[in-house]
Amino acid sequence: MKRCDVCKGYVGKPREVKVGDNVGFVIERRKNNSVKMSARTGKLMLIKADGFSVIYRGTVYHAGSVSHPEDPSPISLALTGKCSCGTENAQA
Ligand SMILES: [Zn+2]
Repeated sequence: MKRCDVCKGYVGKPREVKVGDNVGFVIERRKNNSVKMSARTGKLMLIKADGFSVIYRGTVYHAGSVSHPEDPSPISLALTGKCSCGTENAQA
């Protein structure tokens, strides 16, 4: 994926990941009423119907989404969003 020069949103399809790849994922830690999210890079172990299993420092995490290391992390993607102005799509 790349960033749109106009609105700074992300454009394009995410790269495919496969088992054994290093992937970006998000660990959610719930404390009281707040959720703290941190982006990590782990190794993809399993692709499941409802998400992914990623091993990071010997612990297996369940992740709802993972990203290719060269793609924006799920956090960046959520914060920045996708291209909304259509500039890049129009050129493609
Ligand atoms: Zn745009």
